[in-house]
Amino acid sequence: MVILLLMALAAAPLPEAVERGIAESLARERAAALTAVRYDLAFTVPERRQQPVEGSLRLTATLASPRRIVIDFSAPKERVRSVRVGDKDVVPVYAEDHLIISADATRAGENRIAIEFTAGDEALNRNDDFLYTLFVPARAHLTFPCFDQPDIKARYTLTLDVPAAWETVANAGESARETNGGRLRVRFGETKPLPTYLFGFVAGRFAVERATRNGRELRMFHRETDAAKVSRNREALFDLHAAALKWLEDYTALPYPFDKFDFILIPSFQFGGMEHAGAVLYNASGLMLDESATQNQLLNRASTIAHETAHMWFGDLVTMRWFNDVWMKEVFANFMAAKIVNPSFPMVNHELRFLLSNYPDAYSVDRTAGSNPIRQPLSNLSDAGQLYGPIIYEKAPIVMRQLEMIVGEQAFRDGVREYLKKYAFGNATWLDLIRILDAKTPDNLAAWSRAWVEERGRPEFATALRTTKNSTIERLTITMNDPLRRRLVWPQRMRITLGYADHQTDLTVYANGRDTIVREAAGMPKPLFILPNGGGLAYGLFLLDEQSASYLLGNMPRIDDALTRGAAWVTLWDNVLEGRVPASAFVDAAIPALVNESDEQNAQRVLAYVSRAFWRYLPQQERLARAPSLEAALRAGIARANTTSLKSAWFSAFRDDVLTRDGQSWLERVWRREERIPGLPFVETDEIVMAMELAVREVPGWEQILQTQLERTENPDRKARFAFVMPALSADPQVRRGAFERFRMLENRRREPWVSESLAYLNHPLREQDSDRFIRPGLELLADIQRTGDIFFPSNWTGSILWGHRTPRAAAIVRDFLAEELQFPERLRWTVLSAADDLFRAAALSVR
Ligand SMILES: [Zn+2]
Repeated sequence: MVILLLMALAAAPLPEAVERGIAESLARERAAALTAVRYDLAFTVPERRQQPVEGSLRLTATLASPRRIVIDFSAPKERVRSVRVGDKDVVPVYAEDHLIISADATRAGENRIAIEFTAGDEALNRNDDFLYTLFVPARAHLTFPCFDQPDIKARYTLTLDVPAAWETVANAGESARETNGGRLRVRFGETKPLPTYLFGFVAGRFAVERATRNGRELRMFHRETDAAKVSRNREALFDLHAAALKWLEDYTALPYPFDKFDFILIPSFQFGGMEHAGAVLYNASGLMLDESATQNQLLNRASTIAHETAHMWFGDLVTMRWFNDVWMKEVFANFMAAKIVNPSFPMVNHELRFLLSNYPDAYSVDRTAGSNPIRQPLSNLSDAGQLYGPIIYEKAPIVMRQLEMIVGEQAFRDGVREYLKKYAFGNATWLDLIRILDAKTPDNLAAWSRAWVEERGRPEFATALRTTKNSTIERLTITMNDPLRRRLVWPQRMRITLGYADHQTDLTVYANGRDTIVREAAGMPKPLFILPNGGGLAYGLFLLDEQSASYLLGNMPRIDDALTRGAAWVTLWDNVLEGRVPASAFVDAAIPALVNESDEQNAQRVLAYVSRAFWRYLPQQERLARAPSLEAALRAGIARANTTSLKSAWFSAFRDDVLTRDGQSWLERVWRREERIPGLPFVETDEIVMAMELAVREVPGWEQILQTQLERTENPDRKARFAFVMPALSADPQVRRGAFERFRMLENRRREPWVSESLAYLNHPLREQDSDRFIRPGLELLADIQRTGDIFFPSNWTGSILWGHRTPRAAAIVRDFLAEELQFPERLRWTVLSAADDLFRAAALSVR
């Protein structure tokens, strides 16, 4: 009997522990149990930002049967004044980040929960005379009690009680307002179903501009005081939004899904924009442009507006079920933005821009042992920050473009329409989209998606050419391999370039297996080079045959098409990293080719490669031997460049690479303002970098240079940053060790860009001999860095430590660390392996 009783006790449901943050298991449990969720919220915002915002919530949710309700609210229990369920006061259990109402207080059917609370300020962005909410990805529960996950969509009603002089704006339109003494009370209508991360409001002193476009009233809230600037930008901002809305309504065949459209320009906003449904937030500086705005700034502005507007359908109307698919809405928004905006900027080579802004960065992770798939598991939303990186930002757009090419533009659009219609005001996963598109193509998209989206890495391509005696192509074969030996195939469209003395021919093929025969090539004359990604489409490592590599190195200026040249440089660089093209040959080819490079995007990219080759892949002796000719070429480039941005790119390369005594003296004279460069004005930040580069080279009087720069820096933030970095530049190894040691203390790591800059100078290639002592302790601190820092800090930290190293000894320190630290978190291991990739390659090449 005793035994039976114990068993019965053990079987009784114990209160389950609830994890910190929003665990996927909790999210799944709630999404299955809760329906018809509604929030009726009221906030009272005091005039002074030091006083708390008080809140009141009426939450309704329907349950099939009584069960505990876990509500997310990250606040000490003193901040909860009362909780009532129905007409009874209850005392919930307070767990970390949650407030739990026990099952016996709930009932089948509708449950009404009333909570009076003090809102946390962390996600309210309170300023002296305005505030705005920013809840993405799961920060709403820092402000009010809620179910803070993307797939419990709810309708919201909101009441704001604010100082009478303030404006207010939220997701829905205003339904009532009353003024009472110094206070204004605004009630907003009920929203369409929204996830917590898209709910938001803004209140404060704003000017409001109104315009009507295509029968719809648009409103712009801003704090710009320069009236001329407002009137210069006003019409364009309304027009750009109206054009994007119209384009998206046509493309999706769905009317704008929300009741009204407002946008709010926030000074120093965290991102470029945030797509709160019906109330989009923007960084004011990206939208209110000066008269001198460049084409690039205009293009970026139009793209940002189109991107956020596209989110109204992609993300807001149909939302990812969980944040592991957050990449999907971002890629869709960018993809639509490019379609909307690019035709209005015919001066820009968009294909080249796409190639250079996506492929090299995607490869920088995907070629390494630390690569990760686009779709990654995410067990808790508190880790959502770790998903962001080049694989999501740069590889995913390439994958989406491939998807559209495989399915076909028309069928792709139809599939997207079906997807939006089917999941409108609901949630969907990547696989839900793939299922719809799969039905529209004979290809197996599920298999396609496995290789591209669910797995890491990239394919490796080689070409094989068989010719007849009279140099005609008999057969051209492209072979695709999985370097990670999983036998994966990445089906993709490729535009293969065959290059001849006076022209080039691009052949389109669909590579869908290990070997692909390029049928159209048969019978053509033997080319001088074959570039499988010459048309800028294909993704992978392209191992160049010897003849193609040497032709491209020697004859780049003869290739007319800028896109082909861009693709060729990206590919040649990959071949340098593979040890198939010597870094010295790359540098020797790049310098004369740069003289003739007419496209600024290509010139910038090649200059960056030259710097990397110079510091990472040339042994010190070769570096010194090449310095005089390299510097002469870079100085000539500065003089010759015909735009300020291009001059600046050449100058930056010179400043970062200079090694000769003469070159350093010239740089010093420029820094001393004794020498001017026509057409290239310098501002304070430029002089700061020059001073630092001179100091790390230990030019005579380096200490005085730093001191002078510190004194002549006027901006207080920049002055403080410079003072912080100075010890890392010292010629005294003892001082440099001290500069590193301070990073063990969290309070010395708060200014993350300052820390990364210090680490990069501590580990400058010229300091290589002494600085590998920082590698091991730097890696040992990494777990702490991740726990206490912002999302991009772990990779910036590691990258800044490793960038200047190239010796086998340094590589061994990293390898030993990873081998010994068996408990090291997997994602951080990836971070280290990605950051160490160049070091591993350089070390391996140096002993060959
Ligand atoms: Zn976005």
